[in-house]
Amino acid sequence: MNEKLLKLPVWPAFIQARCPRCRRGSMFANEMYGFHGQHMNKTCPHCDLTFEVEPGYFYVSMLLSYAFNVAEMVTLAVAISVLTGSENPWLYTAVILTAAILLSPFNFRYSRVVLLYWMTPGIRYNPDLSGPEQTSENTDEKAAG
Ligand SMILES: [Zn+2]
Repeated sequence: MNEKLLKLPVWPAFIQARCPRCRRGSMFANEMYGFHGQHMNKTCPHCDLTFEVEPGYFYVSMLLSYAFNVAEMVTLAVAISVLTGSENPWLYTAVILTAAILLSPFNFRYSRVVLLYWMTPGIRYNPDLSGPEQTSENTDEKAAG
């Protein structure tokens, strides 16, 4: 078989929160901003990788999410100070709290994506699993496309 090996680039897969091993299956079952909260798939729908590699693994991502939050708040505070020159603490409080609420789904999602992409030694990209026809669940996607 002389089929060209399909290598999927890391950044589009990362931004779309795809599986770190095959870069095809979605890690999350729904949209980032929806009314039904965040639902993560237990396993990759494409290559069957178990995302939570051990029980409680995503507690680590809470620390990452916290670090994201701090970085965002400091960035915002500096931006407000530079852009408006204001010393009104209520302006800072209102903007930063609003941003923290709006960004929480983003932080939740990407803390887990970063954890699985770059901080989990056992998970690596495997181009062999990137093919369009790996699992039987995928045949309907092929028929539709
Ligand atoms: Zn996968």
